[in-house]
Amino acid sequence: MKYSISRISAELGIDRVSCPDYEVSLLLTDSRSLIYPSESLFFALRTSNNDGHRYIEELYGKGVRNFVVERVPDSLKDAADVNFLVVDDVKSALQTIACRHRDRFDVPVIGITGSRGKTTIKEWLYQLLQSDFRIVRSPRSFNSQIGVPLSVWEMNDDIDLGIFEAGISMPGEMQSLQRMIKPTIGILTNVGGEHAEGFESMLEKCREKAGLFVDCDRLIYCDDDPLVKKVMDEEFGDKERCAWSFKDSGCRLYVKHVEKGDGSTVIDYVYDNRSNSVTIPFTADSDIENAIHCIAVMSLLGVSDEVIAERMSRLTPVGTRLNVMEGVNNCMLICDAYTSDYHSLNPALAFMGRRMTADRTSTVILSDVMHEDMNSDALYRSIAELLQNRHIDRVIGIGPEISRHASCFGGDAKFYRSTDEFLSETTTSDFDHELVLIKGAGDFRFDRIVDILEARQHETVLEVNLDAVVHNFNNFRAQVRPATGIVAMVKASGYGAGSYELAKTLQSQGAAYLAVAVLDEGVDLRKAGITMPIMVLNPRVVNYKSLFNYRLEPEIYSFDILNEIICEGRRYSITDYPVHIKLDTGMHRLGFLESDMTELVRVLKSQNVIKPRSVFSHLAAADCPELDDYTRGQFEYFARCCEQLQGAFDYHILRHILNSTGITRFPEYQYDMVRLGICLYGIPTLTDGSQGDLKPVSSMHTAIISIKEWEAGTTIGYSCKGVLHRKSRIATIPIGYADGLDRHLGNGRMSVWINGHRCPTVGNICMDICMIDVTDASCAVGDQVEIFGNNISVMEIADVLGTIPYEVLTSVSSRVKRVYYRE
Ligand SMILES: *Cc1c(COP(=O)(O)O)cnc(C)c1O
Repeated sequence: MKYSISRISAELGIDRVSCPDYEVSLLLTDSRSLIYPSESLFFALRTSNNDGHRYIEELYGKGVRNFVVERVPDSLKDAADVNFLVVDDVKSALQTIACRHRDRFDVPVIGITGSRGKTTIKEWLYQLLQSDFRIVRSPRSFNSQIGVPLSVWEMNDDIDLGIFEAGISMPGEMQSLQRMIKPTIGILTNVGGEHAEGFESMLEKCREKAGLFVDCDRLIYCDDDPLVKKVMDEEFGDKERCAWSFKDSGCRLYVKHVEKGDGSTVIDYVYDNRSNSVTIPFTADSDIENAIHCIAVMSLLGVSDEVIAERMSRLTPVGTRLNVMEGVNNCMLICDAYTSDYHSLNPALAFMGRRMTADRTSTVILSDVMHEDMNSDALYRSIAELLQNRHIDRVIGIGPEISRHASCFGGDAKFYRSTDEFLSETTTSDFDHELVLIKGAGDFRFDRIVDILEARQHETVLEVNLDAVVHNFNNFRAQVRPATGIVAMVKASGYGAGSYELAKTLQSQGAAYLAVAVLDEGVDLRKAGITMPIMVLNPRVVNYKSLFNYRLEPEIYSFDILNEIICEGRRYSITDYPVHIKLDTGMHRLGFLESDMTELVRVLKSQNVIKPRSVFSHLAAADCPELDDYTRGQFEYFARCCEQLQGAFDYHILRHILNSTGITRFPEYQYDMVRLGICLYGIPTLTDGSQGDLKPVSSMHTAIISIKEWEAGTTIGYSCKGVLHRKSRIATIPIGYADGLDRHLGNGRMSVWINGHRCPTVGNICMDICMIDVTDASCAVGDQVEIFGNNISVMEIADVLGTIPYEVLTSVSSRVKRVYYRE
């Protein structure tokens, strides 16, 4: 839904600045999530270790024009095309806007709180009710002070039911969540977690949680927990309540009998004096409780008993969300800061096991573990055993309960009574080359641990924008006929961007084929789970066994290779193996010539090991208009050869000849497929704009690590090459030619982008470091530096070096961390 800035200013009670009255539809709290700059309203939130104000200039550079801030950055004070809504507290402004938005809708809203099960119940209710309602629900586990406003913002005129979670960790937090969610139906899952931080007692904690329900007219909770019952009776005696119980047949929903079987559980219950029985495909106690909450909701909403039974039987598990991210000091983090129960621990350890590599040891950071049916001694003993069986090298337990059971774990395990205690005694240098599983219940706020251990942007990284890949792919899909397939070229590790993440994205976007350069790239993609067809362009295959095993389809470009693959295929009893016939129509590099065709057909027809899947060729000069006659000659030559080959077979052999430039300049030769390379990565090859709006996929960033001021005449760096002609501020950045920053870019031959300024290099580029003249930029240590990206184009760097963008992209060294982002 769109809001004008004047309306938002009014809602925030601030005078509108005399700037254009833009319309916005997206709330942005993380600069990395930017997709639609002009529609985004950015909230410069301050957290314990970051400040959104730092990203304003960068976002402005990317086209964002609307900001909610606590102070306006100096560099944009005079900008006329931007709105700064200045408030005292950005977070509460965000919440106010969410409240106003919520107030516009008069639909039932289910609010879920409690210590465990919130996300599962929310997702299950969605599964169960989506055929009756148009539902909006919290994305993932967006249940915090920041997550809830973003969730509520998803409400729009098309929906007729909202389902939102509310999670708190400190006294006083529920009130603001209640105002934003304003549920009409409340669910309290349970209240656990012993003495959680900040709360005086369990009763206090329970009361705080129940604060979500002040405006509800109907409530659902388990009557068997005396604490919950007490709070509900005292505070909400006047509301319609659907209490459920395993024990009390007087409850509105009485669970009469639960029978666990092999992989499923039968639940017999009585609701409003009607008996019913459902079978759910789960057996864990927590899942049974979650299911009963769902039964209560559906009964309350008037869903018939038969339908309830039918839908409950088809529930599917809600995957425990494990985020994987790069950590400090070459660590890799696997994080779940929401759940810590015995049943989700083993799957998380298995997930971790699949990501173990030889260069990392394993570490588990675990909070107190929720337990249903085990006494805590037995529980922690079996957890210790689990960790030992999984060969976890280092165990860190956080919480009073797990600390009390320290003796179950080996002598090397460390324990802390609270997350605060852990954080105060730990620095990032305590972690090095480790795969770290961080798993804790929401109350423990392990997201703060994740914040500390997550790799910070002070390193040199190649940021890869997967949304831009999708955008560029669709841009080209619109340029080719619907029936034409797109072969996505991910050779050279995705033109330097890293092939796996790209392949995964392109697979889901419906690319027809992936093309890699060498066998190993293809094998890696298969091992990582890429299932779509892959062609291997490499001139030499040495390991046919791998080729066949991983169903990688080779390019056949000579009689030698042809005979070799037939011979190897026979050894493995292969038949009809798909291959791609390469024709040399003018590159004069590799491929069959027209004069080879008769013999080629003869050999192909004389065997059944391989079967041509496609025939293709490559243009030598698609981007040189002065050589178009040559290119047209290639097309004619290609057509003749294709005809001869196709004539010998009674099934259709796919044909393809166009690369990126060819697609735009010679659309009449699309044939069955086109091969999209450099333009997929957002680099145009034509300067006339005919390739449409391409977005750069890769951007290389680093950060300033030092700034010094020098008098005129000082020399900077090796061989005293950089002579200063004025008093200057010189910044040092941690990137050098070993990272792929070509040494010919030194001594002012290129500029980097810092806070909206182009700043030239000074002196020679060193192996790991270079120096930048920042006299004209306002900047500080830690500020981001763009080497190339949205402001400094790869083309510009290629021009300085007298090369092409392909070489610049593929020269970024492998030691530069690739960071992928989306959404
Ligand atoms: C690399 C390559 C392409 C893609 O070329 P771009 O100019 O990057 O689009 C197409 N076909 C073959 C055979 C290639 O090797």
